[in-house]
Amino acid sequence: MYCFSYSVYWCIYITRNALLLAGFLLPMTNRESSSKRGYDSRWQKARAAYLRKHPLCIEHSKLSQVIKATVVDHIKPHRGDMLLFWDSSNWQSLCKHCHDSHKQRLEKTGQILGCDVAGLPIDNNHHWNLKR
Ligand SMILES: [Zn+2]
Repeated sequence: MYCFSYSVYWCIYITRNALLLAGFLLPMTNRESSSKRGYDSRWQKARAAYLRKHPLCIEHSKLSQVIKATVVDHIKPHRGDMLLFWDSSNWQSLCKHCHDSHKQRLEKTGQILGCDVAGLPIDNNHHWNLKR
């Protein structure tokens, strides 16, 4: 009895660690480095200049809140398209919170949650904001 439960425990332990290791290693092997994706020193300079010109989070501005932006976000995901990557009309300043929450949700579901001070959805693609 002891041997059986011990081996079951050992099997779960080994499987768990193999999954953790795979989860750790796969993103490293499948994803290009940030510099290969365009985020090099040229980007760091462009990003800093953009944040100096546009220092406030655009999503918080829609809520009439003044929050310092720390991320230059690509409005339309560039997905490796360098023309779109460097097109500053496709950039927006966001705080880290907005980038990590609103933006990630937008990329996953195509929707942004929340309303502005007038009670209207902040998502420009919400059907209330689309002209008929
Ligand atoms: Zn924000």
